[in-house]
Amino acid sequence: MSVSAHDRLHTLRNALQDQFERYTHKLTTLTAHGTAPEHEGFDRQTAVALIDSTRQALADTTQALKRMTEGTYGRCEQCQLDIPVERLEILPHARFCVPCQQTQHR
Ligand SMILES: [Zn+2]
Repeated sequence: MSVSAHDRLHTLRNALQDQFERYTHKLTTLTAHGTAPEHEGFDRQTAVALIDSTRQALADTTQALKRMTEGTYGRCEQCQLDIPVERLEILPHARFCVPCQQTQHR
């Protein structure tokens, strides 16, 4: 696997980490003040949902980096076939190929 894919995953993980901290901070603020100011555009429930999806993406990215070390990166966890490069470019932490992803419930 090329170095650029590895770099991309690292960058992604850092970005997700930042995002996660921002959302967590937001939630703390929202919880402390009870309600969100109108212009903020999102409430406590949205913050919780964002934290959840960011946490999931972060976990997937960490797993992807681990798989890269093990040499199994880019392989579908379900059918064991190579995930198309185009898909990995859009979603570097993809765990499944498209057909298998559609059978997953997350
Ligand atoms: Zn598959």
